[in-house]
Amino acid sequence: MAATPITAPPLKPYPVIPILEVGAMAGTKSFPANAQIQEALGFPGELVEDWHDKAIDKRGELLGKYRSLKVYLDACVHCGACTDKCHYFLGTGDPKNMPVARQDLLRKVYRRHFTWSGKLFPKLVGAEDLTKEVLDDWYSYFNQCSECRRCSVFCPYGIDTAEITMAAREIMDSIGLGTKYTNEIIGKVHKVGNNLGLPAAALQDTLSSIEEDLKEETGLDIRLPLNEKGAEVLLVTPSADFFAEPHVYSLMGYAKVFHAAGIPWTLSTHASEAANFGMFIGNYGQMQKIATRVRESVLDLGAKRLVVGECGHAWRAAYSFWNTLIGPFDFLDPNYPVPQHICELTYDLIQRGAIAFDKSANDKYVVTFHDSCNVARGSRMGSLPGGQFEIPRAIIRAVAGKFVDMNPETIREKTFCCGGGGGILTDDLMEVRVKGALPRMEALQAVVESDGVNFMATICAICKAQFSKVLPYYKFNMGMVGGVHQLVGNAIRLGSK
Ligand code: SF4
Ligand code: SF4
Repeated sequence: MAATPITAPPLKPYPVIPILEVGAMAGTKSFPANAQIQEALGFPGELVEDWHDKAIDKRGELLGKYRSLKVYLDACVHCGACTDKCHYFLGTGDPKNMPVARQDLLRKVYRRHFTWSGKLFPKLVGAEDLTKEVLDDWYSYFNQCSECRRCSVFCPYGIDTAEITMAAREIMDSIGLGTKYTNEIIGKVHKVGNNLGLPAAALQDTLSSIEEDLKEETGLDIRLPLNEKGAEVLLVTPSADFFAEPHVYSLMGYAKVFHAAGIPWTLSTHASEAANFGMFIGNYGQMQKIATRVRESVLDLGAKRLVVGECGHAWRAAYSFWNTLIGPFDFLDPNYPVPQHICELTYDLIQRGAIAFDKSANDKYVVTFHDSCNVARGSRMGSLPGGQFEIPRAIIRAVAGKFVDMNPETIREKTFCCGGGGGILTDDLMEVRVKGALPRMEALQAVVESDGVNFMATICAICKAQFSKVLPYYKFNMGMVGGVHQLVGNAIRLGSK
């Protein structure tokens, strides 16, 4: 039977709360991982027979490990402040995509098994057993949360739905119910070093062909070095940068920045991936195993600076978790003692006058900036308060003449997810992705109409991939999304350009 075509919801002036469509997205499920994929990560290959007891035990283990989880499950007063803050609820109208309802899927089982009132008077306190039906809901709706944390910004108690989603996914993996998309990719990183499963020889070929393109464009020998021992900087970037569009234009931009500033740098085959999908499935063991490749590479190559390319959740993993997972970084240059974002590096060079630009190269663009969730709400950048908002914008202003921000309710810490983050960037969830993009598309439409915006810059590989796919559903050109370093690469002065 042919799949029903996906129709994007109509664009409306923001904000409009949708009419409730109970159960609208219950049947929209990420493809489950098969036994081979699951077992490669040490998870059961299929739903275990005693899944109910195992899930409750795992829940108990997580409550003991993460005190925040217990606080989040206990603290909610059902005030409703978060209900209309999730892009998936706004796009689908399904009430179980309201953040509080998503949390309640786990909370009601928590109450039943871990609170005295839930054990004695379950109906009175909204406690429920973990039935197969409830587990089905977990699988649907915890895989329709991009862990973007927008809802937590509006919660008076700071309850973080993303942490609850991560716990639910960790429980599901532990009983044999993982998703194909996330877990297959994690397996590829363990085996080959990157999400794409791109082997070393193929990576070298790709980089050589990008060098040829750069030579043709600039007349210069701009290098993309691989595994060069003694380089000052190790750049760890999302593997999508190696060949996906528009991602590759940012990679070319990074190479031009290093070339123009005369900074010796290298990429690594062993750590040819900045993304860390271990975070999406809430599994710190997987996260650590992925991140360890970065530590091994930086030590092996003897680099003194560790720089992360344009990838939202990778930057969150680097900023918030690397020190715990793979630190300390006491071998780095004391002037750059912690991992840096590529935007910090470029911004610093701009501040020092070490690189210059011809803004007219971007004159054809009226640029806006989409803040990526994991950068906006899960990290910082540089030493400036709010650096994660200011630095990318300052770079854009330095390289392009026309910049306009979108509606303030949809940017910075209140930014809306692109609709594809948190392990959702898979074709099996295309309907969720298209509908979840609605609030960002509405904000974009407003600046297209008011200011003629024709380029939306972002610093996340997932945002770039997601927007390239969903923009046409909303009648926008897929080419209007690109990286900040794509704009940098267009405008940077390289001498003979
Ligand atoms: S974390 Fe993001 S995707 Fe998840 S419920 Fe909150 S707003 Fe929705
Ligand atoms: S805003 Fe916070 S306290 Fe209020 S319903 Fe949402 S999660 Fe619960």
